Amino acid sequence: MSMHDEVLAAAKDMLRLNLTAGTSGNVSGRLEDGSVVITPSSIDYETMTLADLVVLDASGEVIEGTRSPSSEKLVHIACYKRFPEVQSVIHAHPVYASMFAVARQPIPSAIDEFAVYVGGDVPVADYAMTGSSELGENAADCLVDVGSALLANHGTVTVSDSPERAIHQLGVVERAAQIVWGARILGGDAELPSSTNETLGGYYRMMRKPS
Ligand code: 13P
Ligand code: ZN
Repeated sequence: MSMHDEVLAAAKDMLRLNLTAGTSGNVSGRLEDGSVVITPSSIDYETMTLADLVVLDASGEVIEGTRSPSSEKLVHIACYKRFPEVQSVIHAHPVYASMFAVARQPIPSAIDEFAVYVGGDVPVADYAMTGSSELGENAADCLVDVGSALLANHGTVTVSDSPERAIHQLGVVERAAQIVWGARILGGDAELPSSTNETLGGYYRMMRKPS
């Protein structure tokens, strides 16, 4: 599968798996020459085809495609600039994670194995307006040691080494948000031993940036 195929498949999966709603969210992948293939703005995922994808240069200018690029292209560009190891970025609006984003509360790494996929607690990036370059910078500030962050009062951003693994990680984050939300209603979310999160988060960081 080419990166274009992988980005399109992940965008359709994002909707199918209920990780976003309507045309919200966006998916991108880094191409070998450093350019970025990204989903278009406000196009239905179910009918989206490869011809709808847009290619940006490393600074975010459109170099291929007839559609308007995602309005959050600067979030994607900021993540690629900051993290050379990142090959795919997904911004989404999943319900439970977005509840934490609106409450401006991190999603704690409270489930065993969560940190293997995500690195640790999912932090909340400082609020910046949709579409702004500041939103991208604030998100990237949170993604040094973990693969997902919450955009305050908005949604999520996830970075990974492929669109498929980014979708998987986003699913892990959304499920954890739902479970922690429910556990709090049941009386509280007990913390994992910090040694568990340190060990498992260490695996995440080792896989993300092999030495
Ligand atoms: P686009 O349709 O422009 O990608 O925007 C969706 C979104 O989630 C904006 O924050
Ligand atoms: Zn959004």
